[in-house]
Amino acid sequence: MRLFNVPESAVSSAPLSSSAVGTLYVVATPIGNLEDISARALRVLREVALIAAEDTRHSSRLLQHFGITTPLAACHEHNEREQGGRFVERLLAGEDVALISDAGTPLISDPGFHLVRAARAAGVRVSPVPGACALVAALSAAGLPSDRFIFEGFLPAKAAARQARLQGVAEESRTLIFYEAPHRLLESLQDMCEAFGGQRQAVLGRELSKTFETLKGLPLDELCAWVAADSNQQRGECVVLVAGWQAPEGEEALSGEALRVLDLLLADLPLKRAAALAAEITGVRKNLLYQAALARQS
Ligand code: SAM
Repeated sequence: MRLFNVPESAVSSAPLSSSAVGTLYVVATPIGNLEDISARALRVLREVALIAAEDTRHSSRLLQHFGITTPLAACHEHNEREQGGRFVERLLAGEDVALISDAGTPLISDPGFHLVRAARAAGVRVSPVPGACALVAALSAAGLPSDRFIFEGFLPAKAAARQARLQGVAEESRTLIFYEAPHRLLESLQDMCEAFGGQRQAVLGRELSKTFETLKGLPLDELCAWVAADSNQQRGECVVLVAGWQAPEGEEALSGEALRVLDLLLADLPLKRAAALAAEITGVRKNLLYQAALARQS
């Protein structure tokens, strides 16, 4: 029995690309545990002409560990737009280039977007070499619904902007995923309690794939208290996952806007007509609005 259907070409050790134009490989590197690098990632990093890295000093340690001597060039958020052209020139000249970031998958809250876009615009083939990604690792083990989710990246550092961002997703029904810096974790959890309510289920994924890996699932208010009580939980790298919003049953399920429309119409129209019109305007079920109208007039 064959477990995997791996085409011969996928495992060959032939040169990476044989066309006149090179390929830009977007290569995922570990988020902590070096064993998480794939065999393909190592081969690509070994065989390309150049590795574009977010931080060349950081990545040279990773490459040294695996005995890879491919030259490195910096590609970070401050030089990516200007240097992108230089990498594209080399790709157009037929050289293969790998793009890596400090950890995980490039472009995911990491540099690389401008280079990938420039390469694609120039007609260069861009090929992902998949691997570790903190948000996927956390979601895969958090036990929150994973069929639909949204990734919000890092929240703004300033409190007012962060609170506004959280308010904007308070009624989002998909699982929410945030990256957070350890020194802002507690503040952000407190703002999440405010925006989503302390009873909303959440999971903190910390130091994933490393020695002190933690995946703690609790209602937001308890998670806040747990983090506040243990300063160790405010260290290292973390992902916060929050269960999506669930519409409450009955009148509570109506948004403020739907109730406002209903009230305006009730002032001038019979109850049944007001509920029907409000349903047309807001898209909310007529019966729900009818029940709400009854409750308001009783
Ligand atoms: N490109 C990376 C990826 O694929 O996940 C993310 C880079 S982003 C600059 C770094 C953030 O990812 C950290 O602040 C943290 O929120 C999250 N992160 C990275 N490694 C992690 C780990 N081992 N455990 C938990 N979160 C991690």
